[in-house]
Amino acid sequence: MDVHKFDSHEEIERIAVVGSGTMGFGIALTYARYGRTVRLVDADPEALAEGMRSIETSLQTLADTDQIDEAEIDEITSRIEPVDELTEAVADADLVTEAVTEDMDVKRAVFEEIDAAAPATALLTTNTSGLSITEIAEAVSNPERFAGTHWFNPAHITPLVEVIKGEATADETADVLVELLDAVEKTPVRVEKDVLGFIGNRIQMAMIYEAFSLLDAGVASAEDIDRAVKAGFGFRLPSMGIFEKVDQSGIDVQYAIEEYLMPELDRGTDPNPVVTRLVEQGDLGLKTGKGVYDWSDDSPSEIYDERDRQLLEQLRMFES
Ligand code: NAD
Repeated sequence: MDVHKFDSHEEIERIAVVGSGTMGFGIALTYARYGRTVRLVDADPEALAEGMRSIETSLQTLADTDQIDEAEIDEITSRIEPVDELTEAVADADLVTEAVTEDMDVKRAVFEEIDAAAPATALLTTNTSGLSITEIAEAVSNPERFAGTHWFNPAHITPLVEVIKGEATADETADVLVELLDAVEKTPVRVEKDVLGFIGNRIQMAMIYEAFSLLDAGVASAEDIDRAVKAGFGFRLPSMGIFEKVDQSGIDVQYAIEEYLMPELDRGTDPNPVVTRLVEQGDLGLKTGKGVYDWSDDSPSEIYDERDRQLLEQLRMFES
């Protein structure tokens, strides 16, 4: 099989997005915004309808914040077709992006179906947050055409998409995906080795794990831990990243801190006790009205809308 089917990202015109939950709708919106024809499919008809509603609301927010013209809303929406059957959604796709439940067995079963119904030349990608790309790719017959494209929530706003190569992924596959993501104004980053969690979630999860540990030990309140992150290193991160910051502080300073601090950090291998307790209580965060914070008086859609508007402001600065 020739892996050079797509010499240019421009040849990737028809995109199927499988799973229209939190991530799928934003991925579909982005591809349609930049001229691609998209079919969006979900096993649950209500989730598909909700995904289409989220696309409408998000396009309105993009128009309200001058990211797109009001007139573009209908044009973009018309390029997204909700479809009930997976086989129909992927039948003539150049690219299939999967964004279903984060479960290896579910993903492999979905890719077996996709593999049977999509053109043999289609590129196949998973939005897994950190499962093995190589292992998911075992479900398809052309793993050289398979890769991870890991978008960050909210997918239609956050710039980064990690492009992860599995063991069998061809360089050409990763190359054309990077080109495509550049063309839809994302910031693609190549992940050359298939490690669980990739770059973003390995670093993010190390930070969150330590934050729960500090909370559990009573070092500070949740509000103050969040305040410290937002006002401190979080404030600097978008402009400096990690290594620019370390170089500017001095590697000798980094070494001195690592020497005394590393033994102190939480290097547990189980989920944190606070997280475990909240899960057992059914306190799953905003969606259940309570997690670390009490959200019972808040409307999730209003919170998400406010979040999106703030992030769009930040995006303007990030892009300037
Ligand atoms: P979600 O639960 O909001 O949506 C998943 C959707 O997949 C649901 O609507 C469900 O009905 C559908 N689905 C399940 N099985 C299916 C099948 N066999 N065929 C078609 N549709 C099916 O989940 P999400 O948060 O959008 O996450 C999707 C993927 O993206 C996961 O792999 C997740 O780890 C990853 N991800 C999530 C986030 C996030 O912040 N939520 C960020 C980055 C990556």
